[in-house]
Amino acid sequence: VHQIDQSQDVLKKDDQFVWHSMKPYNPNATMVVSSSKGAWVTDINGDKYLDAMAGLWCVNVGYGRTELADAAYEQLKEMAYFPLTHSHVPAVKLAEKLNEMLGGDYVLFFSNSGSEANEAAFKIARQYHQQKGQYNRYKIVSRYRAYHGSSMGALAATGQAQRKYKYEPLAPGFLHVTPPDSYRMPDANLDNALEMACVQEVERMMTWELSETIAAMIMEPIITGGGVLMPPDGYMKAVKETCEKHGALLIVDEVICGFGRTGKPFGFMNYDVQPDIITMAKGITSAYLPLSATAVRKEVYEAFKGNDEYDFFRHVNTFGGNPAACALALKNLEIMENEKLFDRSRELGDQLLNDLQAQLQNNPYVGDVRGKGLLVGIELVKDKATKEPLSTDMVNGIIGLCKKNGLIIGKNGVTVAGFNNVLTLAPPLSLENEDLTFIIKTLTNALNTLVN
Ligand code: PMP
Repeated sequence: VHQIDQSQDVLKKDDQFVWHSMKPYNPNATMVVSSSKGAWVTDINGDKYLDAMAGLWCVNVGYGRTELADAAYEQLKEMAYFPLTHSHVPAVKLAEKLNEMLGGDYVLFFSNSGSEANEAAFKIARQYHQQKGQYNRYKIVSRYRAYHGSSMGALAATGQAQRKYKYEPLAPGFLHVTPPDSYRMPDANLDNALEMACVQEVERMMTWELSETIAAMIMEPIITGGGVLMPPDGYMKAVKETCEKHGALLIVDEVICGFGRTGKPFGFMNYDVQPDIITMAKGITSAYLPLSATAVRKEVYEAFKGNDEYDFFRHVNTFGGNPAACALALKNLEIMENEKLFDRSRELGDQLLNDLQAQLQNNPYVGDVRGKGLLVGIELVKDKATKEPLSTDMVNGIIGLCKKNGLIIGKNGVTVAGFNNVLTLAPPLSLENEDLTFIIKTLTNALNTLVN
């Protein structure tokens, strides 16, 4: 216990000058963070917390990697900035590396944020069809409960009403279908995924809306922000087949799932599909600097090859592909490779999931413990039989108790429908074994306080 809470002065000014838009949603977010190392952050009072939410901001290699800071510093001294209307070595090397990681058939367009990467993807998908002479293909199919970003197009693709309804009208031409949710879906284990209700919904929508009007479908491999919704294994492949049948492109949003979170370099690699467009962001640099990318399959890119003003992709992003961010990203990917962090995510993730499932199976408020790699969701319910979601206050109470005991966890879900009830764990992939033990113990103890 500290005699003087040094955060009070900062928080007073913070209150006056900084707009934390999500504060009411995150009542436990009151720390003044001042340093960080590995999986741990330290506040201004010197108290330490294990950041098991780091993966939502994608600090995948962990905090305090001075070699990342050095890579950016060296690049800033050498050549701080020049736009990618020309070229520079860090961007070229990074694009080459990302293409190799993706399977070797992509070109990369750089931006700064996940929202921007998705906006670029939507524009590319729409223009691609125009280039092919298909002028009516503009609709983008997305899923309820998914989050794809804060700008007007990315928000239109988002399927969470609470983030949208006060800002409408958003970009037109976005449609939504039901996502798979293996905890609540009756047909999640069908052998033929094409027969699943949520795949048939995609098929029906594309048919009834008229195939010739559909440009693309966007999806995360696993919906993260909407509550870590696990798809049945065959789902993504069945969706890809449905898109192909209707001539629509598949855009895969890897903003959270990418860079090892689910135990593979990219989330789609768990599901035996090759997307047409892949968007990625914070994990490229482990969130040390802003950078994002839209990877576009060569065949799609080739359609933009004409030199005529009407043929090229008329889209500019001033800071996209910033040299220091690219240099840092290359170092980040090198660390991931050297330390085999994708394998580590799979191995530690399996352990985390298995241990939590075993230790929480008798807790009447834990409806489901699910995930892949170091992405785990714990769905809290009032009653296991009815699956009615636990109240937001009680969920926040658990998050607060964990924080009191030095563990930062988050919650995900969809407020409007009362599904604000999925605790989320996504620690850095570089997590130490004893960190994992600490997470399991602290969280299990907190959840056991619900049982009197
Ligand atoms: N897509 C997904 C899946 C995300 O989780 C996010 C943000 N967490 C975004 C897109 C938007 O990214 P940004 O906040 O960098 O714009």
